[in-house]
Amino acid sequence: MDWTGKRVLITGAGKGIGRATAIMLANRGATVVALTRDQNDLSSLVQEIPCEPICADLSETEAISASVASALPVDMLVNCAGTTALQSFVQCDLQDFGRVLKVNTVAPMVLAQIVVRDWLERGVRGSIVNVSSDAARRGVANHAAYCASKAALDAITRVMAVELGAAGIRVNSVNPTVTLTPMGELAWSDPVKADPVKARIPLARFLDPNEVAEAILFLLSNEASMVTGISLPVDGGLAIS
Ligand code: NDP
Repeated sequence: MDWTGKRVLITGAGKGIGRATAIMLANRGATVVALTRDQNDLSSLVQEIPCEPICADLSETEAISASVASALPVDMLVNCAGTTALQSFVQCDLQDFGRVLKVNTVAPMVLAQIVVRDWLERGVRGSIVNVSSDAARRGVANHAAYCASKAALDAITRVMAVELGAAGIRVNSVNPTVTLTPMGELAWSDPVKADPVKARIPLARFLDPNEVAEAILFLLSNEASMVTGISLPVDGGLAIS
């Protein structure tokens, strides 16, 4: 895959999967524009790789457009920032539900709108990868907002792929299972909770963030030139077990 001259905007680049993706792309020759909300994360990333940092909170939907104005033009977009709210269905708080949807679903859509409008004007055949989750098609206890947000993200991915295909723009999602990032470690470090899930995964382990990053890079790249609208499980076989 040739990343030379490719400029890629990555959200959630401060930690976990987004950071692993940013580092992998930079190390392979892409120009990285890294967006996250924690200035300390951005400062440490800038020390690690050459990248253009943007500090912004994606839950502030109205401010997204101004935040990313300096990022344009880009050739590719990775919507990776994500959040959750752990609440049982009956205690699901509507404000928290809305916050999760804003970050996980609305922000990727708004960012894609900004980027795609620019591509359509310039005739760029760009590529977008949305980082979804295996939770998009499963019922995970205490994750109503998260599951809904990721299922909606997959749905939007398909609609975008259908509408934008004629312009040569590809849109896909990756759907990882438990990945050992700060978010993943927090939720899955207890073996009592983790072991039964691992036992259902044919490859019998959780993911390293780099394994998700490799799938993201493949879908972004020209090597996936006839792949669009898919939600790619990156799950050690969990979806088919
Ligand atoms: P992390 O929490 O490790 O990293 C998420 C990054 O996104 C952080 O840098 C975080 O910043 C940033 N971020 C979160 N909210 C916002 C916001 N409102 N505005 C700007 N930046 C924000 O998460 P992961 O790497 O684990 O997750 C990345 C993506 O992968 C998410 O979309 C998640 O849903 C998905 N995923 C993760 C799985 C896992 O097991 N880890 C499994 C399946 C999918 P800060 O630290 O300041 O919050």
